[in-house]
Amino acid sequence: MAQRSRKIAIAIHGGAGTLMKGMMTPEKEVEYKNALQKALDAGYQAIQSGKSSVDATELAVRILEDSTLFNAGKGSVFTADGTHEMDAAIMEGTTLNAGAVALVNGIKNPISLARDVMEKSDHVLLAADGAMEFALKMGYEFEDPEYFYDEFRYQQWQEIRDTDQFQLDHSTKKDSKFGTVGAVACDQQGTIAAATSTGGMTNKRYGRIGDSPLIGSGNYANNNTCAVSCTGSGEYFIRAVVAYDVSCLMEFKGLELEQAAFEVVHHRMVRIGGDGGLIAVDKYGNLTMPFNTEGMYRAAKDSDGLSQLSIYKD
Ligand code: ASP
Repeated sequence: MAQRSRKIAIAIHGGAGTLMKGMMTPEKEVEYKNALQKALDAGYQAIQSGKSSVDATELAVRILEDSTLFNAGKGSVFTADGTHEMDAAIMEGTTLNAGAVALVNGIKNPISLARDVMEKSDHVLLAADGAMEFALKMGYEFEDPEYFYDEFRYQQWQEIRDTDQFQLDHSTKKDSKFGTVGAVACDQQGTIAAATSTGGMTNKRYGRIGDSPLIGSGNYANNNTCAVSCTGSGEYFIRAVVAYDVSCLMEFKGLELEQAAFEVVHHRMVRIGGDGGLIAVDKYGNLTMPFNTEGMYRAAKDSDGLSQLSIYKD
């Protein structure tokens, strides 16, 4: 089967949500596309030059974290207390090694801290003060809150501040920004990896943690099946164990990558009212990027000539 010949491949996302054509200025659209293209190209070049899928996904996510356009790193949404609490995870598909952080603040690139948890600690998930203590020990510098400030995110928070509501950063009609970022890649060795980073949901409180740092929910990689990075209303992704469910459908039901991802996003998630999408890759470099929302910032590239960058439903 042609599908079985191995290729190098990478896909990235910048969040899924209600954004519809015409709601964004042409200039803004260009800004988003440029940011996605930059992250995609950097990640692709990394695997092309022999770097691992972990390197490539971390690099692509770092670039998206450094952009205020996305709800991750710089430009993360505001919590109910007016702070930023970020979550991130990374996983490698050959060893099933994984690392994640939750509720961190002041960290410029939470995805790199997640990688350090994977490679330099005996743990998988570190949260809040403990994760910060680990970052300090690893020599991280802490950014001031102003670094993460973004006027648009601030205004979003003002709309629901002092209420019990919390929301996806891209679920309001006025919103022109999508959120969470992620990358999946297949390198020259056929090793796959997934990385996801987010500021979570606007006005979140009570130490709320979404799906992104939870291995199997918002992020997962297993060379026997697939690497997956999710975006959408985290509570549903946790309940449906989305990323691992895609993997299970491949492992136990024998579905191909695309069928498995479609089944989860368009049937299983929809049944429980979950909105969002995911990007996924298998060890042959096949990619898929389904979503059940109006749009998802997404881009993909492989060594067979695939080159795609889209925002809306095609
Ligand atoms: N899944 C993320 C969360 O619930 C949000 C998002 O994807 O935009 O924290």
